[in-house]
Amino acid sequence: MSLANKLSEERRARLAAERLLEQKQAELYAANRKLGRHARQLSVEIVETRAEVKNVRDENKRVKSDLTVAHQKIEIAERRLWHSIETIQDGFAFFDADSKMIGANRSYMSVFDGLEEVRPGISYIRILQLATEEGIINIGDERPAAWRARMLERWQDPAPEPIIIRLWNDVYIKFIDQRGAGGDVVSLALNITDTVRYEKELKKERSNAEAANRAKSSFLANMSHEIRTPMNGVVGMAELLTDTELDEEQRLYVNTIKNSGEALLVIINDVLDYSKIEAEKLKLHPEPFDLERCIHEVIMLLQPPARDKGFDLMVDYDMFLPTQYIGDPGRLRQILTNLLGNAVKFTSNGHVLIRVVGVHPEGSDETHVHVTIEDTGIGIPADKVDHIFGEFNQVEDEQNRQFEGTGLGLAITQRLIKLMGGKIWVDSEEGVGSAFGFRITMPVADTLEEVAPVLPASLKRALIVDDHEVNRAILEKQMDVLGIQTVSCTNGAEALAALEAPFDLVLTDHNMPDMDGLELAETIRARGCDVPIILLSSNTGYAEQDPARAHLQGILQKPTPRRELFAKLKSLGADVIEASAEERPAPAPEAEAEIEVEPVARPMRILAAEDNKTNQLVFRKMIKTLDVELLFAANGLEAVAAFRDFNPDLIFMDISMPKMDGKEATKEIRAIEAEAGGHVPIVALTAHAMDGDKDGILAAGLDHYLTKPLRKAAIHETIMEHCPEGARPPKPESEEPAQAAG
Ligand code: ADP
Repeated sequence: MSLANKLSEERRARLAAERLLEQKQAELYAANRKLGRHARQLSVEIVETRAEVKNVRDENKRVKSDLTVAHQKIEIAERRLWHSIETIQDGFAFFDADSKMIGANRSYMSVFDGLEEVRPGISYIRILQLATEEGIINIGDERPAAWRARMLERWQDPAPEPIIIRLWNDVYIKFIDQRGAGGDVVSLALNITDTVRYEKELKKERSNAEAANRAKSSFLANMSHEIRTPMNGVVGMAELLTDTELDEEQRLYVNTIKNSGEALLVIINDVLDYSKIEAEKLKLHPEPFDLERCIHEVIMLLQPPARDKGFDLMVDYDMFLPTQYIGDPGRLRQILTNLLGNAVKFTSNGHVLIRVVGVHPEGSDETHVHVTIEDTGIGIPADKVDHIFGEFNQVEDEQNRQFEGTGLGLAITQRLIKLMGGKIWVDSEEGVGSAFGFRITMPVADTLEEVAPVLPASLKRALIVDDHEVNRAILEKQMDVLGIQTVSCTNGAEALAALEAPFDLVLTDHNMPDMDGLELAETIRARGCDVPIILLSSNTGYAEQDPARAHLQGILQKPTPRRELFAKLKSLGADVIEASAEERPAPAPEAEAEIEVEPVARPMRILAAEDNKTNQLVFRKMIKTLDVELLFAANGLEAVAAFRDFNPDLIFMDISMPKMDGKEATKEIRAIEAEAGGHVPIVALTAHAMDGDKDGILAAGLDHYLTKPLRKAAIHETIMEHCPEGARPPKPESEEPAQAAG
């Protein structure tokens, strides 16, 4: 190779190397620029990241501090909770869902005193085992395994019932366990030893009190019985005595003994019954009986006082209610006598109505019988309605105090009804009337009883004549059940007008204003009408003797048991015409009043205020040998009036009297004297021989004081002492000193 070649070759190579260098330099430059850009970008990012890191760090710091505060709070709350749980006297423990103890307070743990094993982590089953093995609990006669099984079964219940456990030292713990949502159990152990002890004491005290009460009642029952026996002798012998030959005065004495004895017997019988019920000695004697008849028997007894007062006793016995039941008729009669007796006693006009209805549940042989006794009497104030059922409780107002009674009737009635499994209630409005009701359930004795009999076909229309609306309504109802049409009239004149139309029967009341039932019958016959007439009378004996009886087809006692009414209607078909035309005996001539001759010098005037008739009689007899003019006042009001009209020289004043008592009457008399002048001596007669009473009586303006029972000598002495000038001496000088009353 030539040099030139070599040189050109070298030049070419050098040129190529220079181009490569140039290219590499350009690439290096481009790369350098890119690197510069990248570096700039990176440094921006670094600045941003640093800022973020700082933020995050700050945040972290804050969170950490918050967490610390929260932790502290939780710690405090937990400490407080445990402190509280520790403070309560009762035991408290938590168990997890596997029945392992999570924790318990000291009180809970104290029961297991000294047992290391009992601590958080122990299972409930193990606790039960320790409780029995270590004798911590007193399980009585129960076997430990059985007790544990019972406790465990309870524990597993989703909502265990509280249970009471007795510990070895007679401490009683009531466990109340509650299962939470996650299966945890909170167990509360309450120490109820004091409550249990108190309950035991209370039970003991109560049974002691009941035993004492029974003993007292038993004593009272025995005593009442003991008193009743000789009392019966007294009453019985007095009755016998009245049949012997006696002069008028002796008869009066004997009758007084008899009446007082009988009144006392009623009280003793009430006390005896009440005590028997209290002592749980009263037993019922159920037997088949007729309820309707039972009611009518009681009514018969109470008819005379009701008739004397001029009002009717009525019975409305549900037509579809059986009458034959199994019950204690004697005690039922007693209940009815008490309630009806009160109704008659506290009613002076209007009526007393006894209603009997019942519910006979299908398929049952028992009937719920409701009896109500309505009256139109004085009524009971609303605030006294509960009070009157208490023993010896009465409404203590002026109106009530006019009536006698022990206040035991309703208490006995209520207890008897309770003994029969029934209930008593009362509805009353003061001044309007009362309705006492009771309900008892009795088995029906005879379900095949005939309610409506087969009547003569001719009996289709009846005329009812009664001035009393309730009576008419009852009769209408009874006739309706028998399919008899009725027309009702309120008096004889209306009935006569109604009889222009045809009737098959006249049912008339006896006692009516203007024209009574017998006169009506007479007039009907006088008009030539021969319709059968039945008289309903509350005094059949009297009606039977009336000549007009001949016009009647029958007389029925009022109120009429429905059997008797039906029987009478049935017999009408047989056309039985009863006749009895006995002459009514002429009334005995009234005894003529004795005419006294007025003496020259006036006798001493004595006013005695005394409400009790027997005491009046005793007083009258005690001073019968004295020549005085005696006037009785039955209460304080009468005494004040008599003081004005009678102008007495001396007043004997009973303290306890109805309407106005002796103290009030004396105050009024003293007030009158303060205006008009004068001062009448007033001597208190009182049964209250108690200390302190004397001062109260004298403070009311009374001058002297005598305690009952009265002594004849003391009364004579008082009278003699107070005889005023101008009056005849009550006891003539010659007379022997009066004997003390025996
Ligand atoms: P007693 O009739 O012997 O006083 P009760 O226990 O039978 O005793 O009655 C208690 C009281 O209840 C009566 O004193 C009376 O005040 C009141 N009472 C009872 N029944 C009636 C009645 N039908 N109307 C008004 N008050 C009555």
